Amino acid sequence: MFHPENFTRKKACVLGIGKSGQAVAALLRAEGFEVLISEERTAPYADKLQLPPGIEMETGGHSSRVFEYDFWVKSPGIFPQSAILQEGRKRGMPIFSELEVALAFLPKNCRIFAVTGTNGKTTTTALLGEILKAHATQVAGNRQVHVCGNIGFPVSRCARNVKPGDDLVIEVSSYQLEDSTYFHPAYACLLNVTPDHLDHHGGMKNYIKAKGKILKYQNSKDVLVLNGADIVCAELAEKAKSRVLAFSTQPKHVLKTDVFFDGDELIFSEGHQIRPPHLKGIHNVENAMAAALMALAAGVPAATVQKVFDSFKGMEHRIEQFAYHNGVIYVNDSKATNLDSTITALKSFDKCQNIWLILGGRDKGSSYEVLLPYLKDYCKRVLSIGEAMDKIDRELPGFTVTRCDTLENAVDLSMKNAVRGDIVLLSPACASFDQFKDYEERGRIFKRLVDSRIFKERTDTN
Ligand code: ADP
Repeated sequence: MFHPENFTRKKACVLGIGKSGQAVAALLRAEGFEVLISEERTAPYADKLQLPPGIEMETGGHSSRVFEYDFWVKSPGIFPQSAILQEGRKRGMPIFSELEVALAFLPKNCRIFAVTGTNGKTTTTALLGEILKAHATQVAGNRQVHVCGNIGFPVSRCARNVKPGDDLVIEVSSYQLEDSTYFHPAYACLLNVTPDHLDHHGGMKNYIKAKGKILKYQNSKDVLVLNGADIVCAELAEKAKSRVLAFSTQPKHVLKTDVFFDGDELIFSEGHQIRPPHLKGIHNVENAMAAALMALAAGVPAATVQKVFDSFKGMEHRIEQFAYHNGVIYVNDSKATNLDSTITALKSFDKCQNIWLILGGRDKGSSYEVLLPYLKDYCKRVLSIGEAMDKIDRELPGFTVTRCDTLENAVDLSMKNAVRGDIVLLSPACASFDQFKDYEERGRIFKRLVDSRIFKERTDTN
């Protein structure tokens, strides 16, 4: 467990210069630490970074200086079996996650709500954040709600703005959990666990172990919300010391559930009835159930939850229907970076074999074969892009796959060939880093490519 006072020399080394690395370096510096950021890759942009004075930086490799510091903060992207981490462990270097370090600087009496799972984290975190914010405005006091973590705003960045009594709603990834030696949220949520990031974690067993850390240090005063139809969640629930509240939209579930969906409303065992937000897909009903269970357990009235659900518009890059042209619907689901989320996206449409699915990017180690039955029901054609093209070809025998290399080619081909009633869906089941900065850039470029062609066609015909 990270205690700043254990490190009296106050010398910290942050491995990795990404968003959370920069944020934790700035936090530690502000807390009086001498900080070195050490980045393995060359980072030409490093000189332009606006870091507070007094933070040293080395890029293009880790020098022996890193061993002169009291502890390391590891950026989530660094492989657990990388040479530097193996060497650090061999030398007994204390290694912590950015999340754990940031939390150590919070006032003691904040409520921590943590959301993890393979899919649905950001949507659930955002929903819960909105609900708690709405509630904070209704009650006495000036409690603030900080929505942070993997959602794009590292906890380290908000840590020094948190006041006693504030709430933190944190989206937590498996990488951050894996690196945490101690994490104790009063309200934890595990949405689902399906294969993802297996290359990073080195297999499903380690991935589940990482996700399980969300509940490891909870006690009987804490609340754990989880998916009652997910076998891994159910197994992890057996180890929980906290009060377990389960949700499911499935008729069959492993755990007894505390809320079900009657096709119209969420019916809670405590008697509340709440309409879910107007979002596409049954998965979003599950996200709403999870957010509502956490909020109700934390004392938010059902009417406040309902008000937020009624006005929630959904999030960019998640089954986002952004254009309609010549009878064709265009959907950006760039956030689908694993197979399960692509299956979820397909299942949110009707089984009409009318989807042009843009698939590919940087492969993450699972087999595309699991897509086959869904492709047959929902898709007309797969348009493959990026590094994963060969693997997609090999693993989808018997289905029409057209190699497009780039997103631009895939957009051109689908726009040329799609007919009235078709859907063009970017739901890549892969990471974006082979051709884009991140999934957000991929999604924005997709929308721009489509929009500009629609615009051109409209102006050409006028
Ligand atoms: P995350 O932050 O875990 O990546 P998001 O809320 O950003 O999750 O959603 C990303 C994609 O994951 C969505 O576009 C959808 O395809 C899928 N998804 C969202 N919620 C769920 C869920 N509860 N179960 C399964 N898939 C989901």
